[in-house]
Amino acid sequence: MSNEYDPGSGAISVEGRSPGAVFGLLGDESRLQILQALGETPDEPVPFAELHRRSGVDDSGRFNYHLGKLRGTFVRRTDDGYELTYAGRQVIGAIYAGLYTANATVEAIPVEGSCPVCGGGLVAEYAEETASVDCTACEDFHNDFWFPPGSLDQFEPEELPLAFDRWMCHVIRGVIDGFCYTCAGRMDGRLVVDDADEGIGGLPAHAEFECDRCGSTATTSGGAPMLYHPAVAGFLYDHGFENGRTPTWELGAVGLPTGELLSESPPRMRVQLEHDGERVVTTLEDDMSISSVERITVG
Ligand SMILES: [Zn+2]
Ligand SMILES: [Zn+2]
Repeated sequence: MSNEYDPGSGAISVEGRSPGAVFGLLGDESRLQILQALGETPDEPVPFAELHRRSGVDDSGRFNYHLGKLRGTFVRRTDDGYELTYAGRQVIGAIYAGLYTANATVEAIPVEGSCPVCGGGLVAEYAEETASVDCTACEDFHNDFWFPPGSLDQFEPEELPLAFDRWMCHVIRGVIDGFCYTCAGRMDGRLVVDDADEGIGGLPAHAEFECDRCGSTATTSGGAPMLYHPAVAGFLYDHGFENGRTPTWELGAVGLPTGELLSESPPRMRVQLEHDGERVVTTLEDDMSISSVERITVG
């Protein structure tokens, strides 16, 4: 008898269903009540009787029928009861995020802090599901990004600029790690050379990312990818800037990334930061990977 471990083939199996059929399942109030009842404890399976009670769908025949319709797509049965599938969690998440229910605006809030490029004033605003943190004086510091409307009222108005900024860093980190902020599909980046003096933040090239699946795109400065490299995050931390915690506009206190092209075709760029007698130098490849990092003492 062999006792060798069988590692499996690693084959990926994905079963597709038509979006029309799947979304059609949600066009019923009782089914949404059942999903929301499961969403009350998203990490604990709910026994049948408890789910029936929570859902508020009184007629047990109707409850059974609609639960059956949700099974296999949005709901899974386990030995301990019923639970949301990933798709079910996404539906609950979308309801909480306010995607289908909120239509919010936030009028301009002055930001405590100043533009890292020109020192001008900053304002945060929100409209059409887009948050922005912009310099009022120059064209160089402009950040616009999708923000879930249902999360707005979880913050006091004065907390919002920082909440927007942290959300933006969170999304950019996901994009740089290669995942789409819309569909969680694979996202690939490329370095795009700019005409002289027209690059974001004065750099000669910027970063563009696109989702292979849904086509969502993101554009960042060519200096952004290095900020998420662990060695650069360590450099920033040692110089008083905690990436993703310290507001982006305070990066100017450590220094803004500078860079020069190493080649145009394919585009490659050297990007560096310097502060207080130290420099960290990175090489950014055309697919947005960082092929080298060096931290050096400067005179
Ligand atoms: Zn400015
Ligand atoms: Zn996508």
